[in-house]
Amino acid sequence: LSDRDGKIWMDGQMVDWRDAKIHVLTHTLHYGCGAFEGVRAYDTAAGTAIFRLQEHTDRLFNSAKILRMQMPFCKDEVNEAQRAVVRENGLKSCYLRPLVWIGSEKLGVSPKGNRIHVMVAAWAWGAYLGEEGLQRGIRVKTSSYTRHHVNITMTQAKAVSNYSNSILANMEATEDGYDEALLLDASGFVSEGAGENIFVVKDGRIYTPDLSAGALNGITRNTVFHIAADLGLEIVQKRITRDEIYIADEAFFTGTAAEVTPIRELDRVQIGEGRRGPITEKIQNAFFDIVNGRNPKYAHWLTQV
Ligand code: PMP
Repeated sequence: LSDRDGKIWMDGQMVDWRDAKIHVLTHTLHYGCGAFEGVRAYDTAAGTAIFRLQEHTDRLFNSAKILRMQMPFCKDEVNEAQRAVVRENGLKSCYLRPLVWIGSEKLGVSPKGNRIHVMVAAWAWGAYLGEEGLQRGIRVKTSSYTRHHVNITMTQAKAVSNYSNSILANMEATEDGYDEALLLDASGFVSEGAGENIFVVKDGRIYTPDLSAGALNGITRNTVFHIAADLGLEIVQKRITRDEIYIADEAFFTGTAAEVTPIRELDRVQIGEGRRGPITEKIQNAFFDIVNGRNPKYAHWLTQV
């Protein structure tokens, strides 16, 4: 990923992709305190547009606030940086990765005295859990790792350090032959995927864990709330047990990278008919209509680059 042509926005400048480097004594590299976003831009009829740019930037600033990092740029500058990176790299549709990190002036757990840095990169990235996964659904395993407790790391921050938990869970599940991991919270209730929020459908009603289960407040999750309301479907946020998923009619993951991905199996137990369910399909279609600019009601969620 590092050896390619293109530009990356770093601390206010466009730099050549291969020169976008940091020092090995970077504080975040050692202690893991940093924040990031995952954002997507889609190729709409009106041109390339970033989906829910403002909400992603707001969450990035909230993550920085939770982690006590003073952002060196304002939100408008970070929004503009994201638009510029897509334009500069001539991308029609892409994934964007803004990152905030602590510099290399000094080490020691206290980050005081270090500069805070920001970068934005963008590159083409297809379906995160595979094109086939989007169509047929994926196979998920309940992780042996517990999701972060809400008072150990901060679960409403999209914090760099939170992802060692995601990595362990994802590696365990994929090495065991599954597509993704499902994590339970410290009390044993369903939290989220390694990089996705989860929804289940039972008797025409949709359920998702409330955020006290340590799940990230996903922007795709919020998008699905709007879609469900439009479709006249009720969403209930509540505590969910893993066996409720086994006996659900349908289940799906949501995320900027994962988009809306059906789940056809959990722990080798078939969910519903073992394929993308009808409500999941409706939500997925509505989602792709919105992000691709085919639903005028949500045109304000699309920022042209
Ligand atoms: N949970 C985790 C742990 C994630 O990494 C993500 C991806 N950002 C999500 C949920 C989904 O969030 P969003 O829909 O905002 O991408």
